[in-house]
Amino acid sequence: MRPGLRLGMDAALRERIERAVETHALINAIKHEGEADLGAIMGPLMGEHPDFREYGDRIPEIAGPVVAAVNDLEHEARRARLEELDPGALAELEAEAEPETEHPLPELPNADAYDQIRMRCAPNPNGPWHLGHARMPAVIGTYKDRYDGWFCIRFDDTDPETKRPDLDAYDAILEDVAYLGFEPDAVYRASDRLELYYDRARELIERGGAYTCSCDAETFSALKNDGEACPHREKDPETVAAEFEAMIDGEYDPGEMVLRVRTDIEHKNPALRDWVAFRMIDTPHPRETASEYRCWPMLDFQSGIDDHEIGITHIIRGIDLQDSAKRQQFLYDYFDWAYPEVIHWGHVQVEGYGVPLSTSSIAALIADGDLDGWDDPRAPTLASLRRRGIRGDAIVEAMIQLGTSTSNVDLSMSTIYANNRERIDADADRYFYVREGERMPISDTDPIARPPIHPEYDRGTREIPVDDAVLVESDDLPAVGERVWLKGLGPVRRTDDGFVGTDDDIEAVRSGELSVIHWVPADASVSVTLRTPEGDVSGRAEPGLADVAPDEVLQFERVGFARIDTTDPEIVAYFAHP
Ligand SMILES: [Zn+2]
Repeated sequence: MRPGLRLGMDAALRERIERAVETHALINAIKHEGEADLGAIMGPLMGEHPDFREYGDRIPEIAGPVVAAVNDLEHEARRARLEELDPGALAELEAEAEPETEHPLPELPNADAYDQIRMRCAPNPNGPWHLGHARMPAVIGTYKDRYDGWFCIRFDDTDPETKRPDLDAYDAILEDVAYLGFEPDAVYRASDRLELYYDRARELIERGGAYTCSCDAETFSALKNDGEACPHREKDPETVAAEFEAMIDGEYDPGEMVLRVRTDIEHKNPALRDWVAFRMIDTPHPRETASEYRCWPMLDFQSGIDDHEIGITHIIRGIDLQDSAKRQQFLYDYFDWAYPEVIHWGHVQVEGYGVPLSTSSIAALIADGDLDGWDDPRAPTLASLRRRGIRGDAIVEAMIQLGTSTSNVDLSMSTIYANNRERIDADADRYFYVREGERMPISDTDPIARPPIHPEYDRGTREIPVDDAVLVESDDLPAVGERVWLKGLGPVRRTDDGFVGTDDDIEAVRSGELSVIHWVPADASVSVTLRTPEGDVSGRAEPGLADVAPDEVLQFERVGFARIDTTDPEIVAYFAHP
């Protein structure tokens, strides 16, 4: 198969290279508590073994399977193996290892000043959550546990028109939160709380903090940008109160009347000058209970009032929303309330998806039929990750590691996958799976293959009937006359008629003479559609898969982990990760 490998390299040298690669791969993997990276170990390997350099171009091919085998091991198994190979290196690693940071998140500001830490996650329910949305519940849920605090989900759903709520999204989001492993202490829907916002607005008017304004948007904008008050700013409070009641009663058309907070018309930041607190919207709210309201608060008013009413002590919001706190500060000053502590964080970007991390973009792709739904494996949504068999806490751990800094951060899917692999690997039974298999008649082998159910845990073996033909992937197919090792079965040679068993020893695999390839019985195997983020893959799995129940997470050897989604009428599995 690989004639070049056998030229000029004797078995002893090859063995030395393999052991050195294994040692460095173990060190690399243990150090980072993740997978060993071939690129990262080449430098140290060559530095320590200058005599390998002349074989430099062949080393990656020898090292690949060795690194893969190391990556298949659990952390503990890696330590044990390194202890055998190079106890000194293990001791050195453990001396270097820093004490584990107990809290990857910073302390909350002024946490001691509050009897109870109270935080909120305030989504707009305009669709189920994409992956980026997991960050808020992950972080505030973690703070809740750490400070024995409290958190709520508050649906800020007071824009029935441009950010129109999706009625299914309320429950979908609560399911997403539960999937991440958190249970909110309370759930609010802002559209249930209009009467409260009206009452606070009435109070604000009494305190001289707001006025009704019938300027058209353009006129007001021009005045505001020049730092000039409009004629309505000095209206007497009785007129303002009456006009606000007329707004509540729906007596104006959209754009005809707004309620503005009286801030500082000459404020150096024009965005803070006399901002709109309430406006008229004709489109009925999709929730039946809120469908009669026409006078709706803007988000800064609604969330500012709610944060105080609900007793929020710490707010986390995006760095691009710094003006919100400044706008709301005017309200808090009128009411003489203390503003909560605020943490502004940067955006999180997720690498590894072709679909943008945006609720409206995903909704549009679903509407156009380009995605099958919110849980399509190609969608960067929590529903999709759940369906693929990824544990919510694997996502939470990755989100926590991003911290809360003001800079933008990249979340790599490989971190989530590595976290998940740690959680599922031990329980995932192994199965053979062959994509686009080529049928090869086979003779002179054992009639039944008995590979282990799991390579690292003694859970016994599975039985795979060989029959009289097997399927192997075309890329794995050896040339006529060449030999390969059918995994779990044994060595065969390809002849003009198919595979014929040989008497090669397993040593031929260890020495690299024979490649190990995957196979399934041609006739007894079962058809499996594997749905992946890159699209659907058709293939066939060993017959034992027919007995697997939906929801089970397993590993298709060499392909990766997958969750069985359905078995009827045919088996469909969702790919999790390698
Ligand atoms: Zn005006």
